Amino acid sequence: MTVHKIGIIGLGKIAQDQHLPVIKSNPDFELLAVSSTRGLSHEDAKYTFQDYHELLKVPELDVVAICTPPQVRHQIARDALLAGKSVLLEKPPAATLSELEDLRVLAERAGKTIFTTWHSQYNKAVDEAKKALAGWSIKRLLVTWKEDVRHWHPGQEWIWQAGGFGIFDPGINALSIVTRIMPEPIFIKTSTLQFPSNRDAPIAANLEFQTGHTDGNLQAVFDWRQTGPQSWDIEVETDAGFTLKLSQGGSCLEIDGRLVVQEQPQEYQGIYRRFDALLTLNRSEVDDTPFRLVADAFMIGKRVQVDPFVE
Ligand code: NAP
Repeated sequence: MTVHKIGIIGLGKIAQDQHLPVIKSNPDFELLAVSSTRGLSHEDAKYTFQDYHELLKVPELDVVAICTPPQVRHQIARDALLAGKSVLLEKPPAATLSELEDLRVLAERAGKTIFTTWHSQYNKAVDEAKKALAGWSIKRLLVTWKEDVRHWHPGQEWIWQAGGFGIFDPGINALSIVTRIMPEPIFIKTSTLQFPSNRDAPIAANLEFQTGHTDGNLQAVFDWRQTGPQSWDIEVETDAGFTLKLSQGGSCLEIDGRLVVQEQPQEYQGIYRRFDALLTLNRSEVDDTPFRLVADAFMIGKRVQVDPFVE
């Protein structure tokens, strides 16, 4: 068994909530180094840097997980690949599609692994939903992703800046489930984006989808202004007559009202198992389908200005 010596770049919320504890519990990985612009350190890491360029110079480091905001991911990932390190990309994998394609090509040339992670896909309920829908046509899809930005993203200014994606930061998680379970490709038909008058990223979005050949009622509603109960639900009705509902962000599955799967999410455990498998096979996994839908929603989106957002 090869133990992958890993460095984490960016010790923000997701690095602390998930990457650090999951790496600690996975014997295939050893945390060797961290880099934090604020100068944070971690007891398990032999090396600590403020400048990630210094971290990339550590010769025994094999891989890095880039847990920064998306706007800076491409440059860091580029530097990492050129330094001979394999790369795990937090979602969204870059700021633009062209950046992601550049990384894919660069990793191939360098003979290194690059891995686009979509954490919401790593749920048993999502796998079971995909199996249940295989071979059927979809008559109705309703994605409801409504949460309270003040609760989930306090103080995260980057999320409101251009390239921070606004409501698509959580919305892309829903789209990563949709692209995983849909039995046929899905496209953005219409998109309406609500921008607070003082921000460069949307606070809400309404999307209509189409597939190549069905004429269904396929929609998504994303909103960051939800107080009280939060909704992370995906309902799908098939031409076979059954209805499937994924709730709690993809960790719970009901089919025709019958509970099929309800599990505590183990998403990042699944991500690191997959990363180990890719590294062992020296293969990359670059799935850009959720990211393309977001790009398309911005590309053809109708812009509506709404009240300023003040945290
Ligand atoms: P965050 O709490 O704001 O953390 C991001 C960290 O990146 C910052 O704390 C900072 O850490 C570092 N950073 C910021 N600007 C940087 C720059 N210019 N160059 C290098 N490093 C920089 O954000 P987060 O919630 O962890 O999200 C990070 C990424 O993970 C996002 O793409 C997000 O979509 C994804 N994600 C988040 C969650 C979640 O629940 N929060 C879940 C899944 C995925 P240092 O000061 O330590 O460098």
